[in-house]
Amino acid sequence: MSHYSIRCRKCGKTLDNSYCAFCEHCKDSLLVTEYHDRRLVETGGNGIWRFNWLPVHQPASVQPGPLVYQSRGLARHLGLDQLFIAFNGYWPEKGALLETCTFKEFEAAVVLNNAKENGVSGLIVASAGNTARAFAHLSTVTGFPVVIVVPRMCLGEMWYLESSSLVPTLAVGDGDYSDSIDVAKRVALVTGFPFEGGVKNIAKRDGLGIVMLEAVSKIGKLPDHYVQAVGSGTGAIGGWEMSERFIRDGRFGTHLPKFHLGQNLPFAPMLHAWEKGSRSLFPADLNPELIGHITTRVLSTRYPAYSVQGGVFDLLTSAGGGMYGVENEAVYSGMDDFLKTEGVDLVPASGVAVAVLKDAVRKNAIRKSDTVLLNITGGGEARLRQDKQTHAVMPQFISKNATDKEIEELLCHVLKKSS
Ligand SMILES: [Zn+2]
Repeated sequence: MSHYSIRCRKCGKTLDNSYCAFCEHCKDSLLVTEYHDRRLVETGGNGIWRFNWLPVHQPASVQPGPLVYQSRGLARHLGLDQLFIAFNGYWPEKGALLETCTFKEFEAAVVLNNAKENGVSGLIVASAGNTARAFAHLSTVTGFPVVIVVPRMCLGEMWYLESSSLVPTLAVGDGDYSDSIDVAKRVALVTGFPFEGGVKNIAKRDGLGIVMLEAVSKIGKLPDHYVQAVGSGTGAIGGWEMSERFIRDGRFGTHLPKFHLGQNLPFAPMLHAWEKGSRSLFPADLNPELIGHITTRVLSTRYPAYSVQGGVFDLLTSAGGGMYGVENEAVYSGMDDFLKTEGVDLVPASGVAVAVLKDAVRKNAIRKSDTVLLNITGGGEARLRQDKQTHAVMPQFISKNATDKEIEELLCHVLKKSS
């Protein structure tokens, strides 16, 4: 028997466990996992699989978790007494062992194992960078087939571990991340493999929520504040849903953490909508030209999970906190502060998170004695290159206007190459 069921956030209907299901009544509502055990139990398993609040029964891969530790350097620099860092990346001296250098590795591990247990035989994944690398790595580790679709404009910042070099990857030559999502959905129809489902996939949100699981397990209580950079918002929603489970558990606090979420200016559709109290995003804020001006392309989706029931608007309404806009200069200085005070390199998205924390402290939204969890969603890439071979992603190119026939021919080619 399954240890969880899936419930619609809007109408409360419970669905049987099935891969990436949707509520038949409410198309605009996220489903959430309801674990039958309201208490967090840590079993004898290794890494992330020791937690009972994950939608996987028999994991087929070993998966290290986040490194959560209490900061001294950055904490002193910002004047905080209780700053905890969840470092998701490669920093073996400290015990951080994610070779893909991103928290998307948890998402990939939970999504692939969950899909496999639901009888799915392969997945199509769209990504602006980190997710591609994480899924390519997990596909290699587990032998579960994936086809990855990325935008050409992100290739400059993308890399794979050497072991993942044969994972089939398509690059959309004439579009952005959102066009890649559209192409991925069409590739899914042609191959018969489902699209991984984006924010609607409960396994994806629960996988990213592992950061909150590990942090609360380590700190012993829910933090007062949670700080993260957001693109789609999926990771923050996963953290919120885990926090709600901890409150139902009853042993870790009675208040949700306040969520302080950052976007890289000038592309900040959620920031602008939130500032005006709007559940809908404004079309002018989704102009693709804005994406060319930000340093963090991984945060560039034009389809964020903001308006949907159970999305970022509801998260901030329920938990409190707010959205922050971060200029490129502040991103670099956030990365620099972390390197100097904590001793390891960050990816730009994590620089956004550090900048948000600095801003929240400056505005007194976070006070000296508050317990803070800073989610460093990616880092240690420079550290990794001292130990491991990585290489540029070498995809097959595809147009966003490709016909089904062209998609089919290209897939034949990449699948043959990878086998
Ligand atoms: Zn419903």
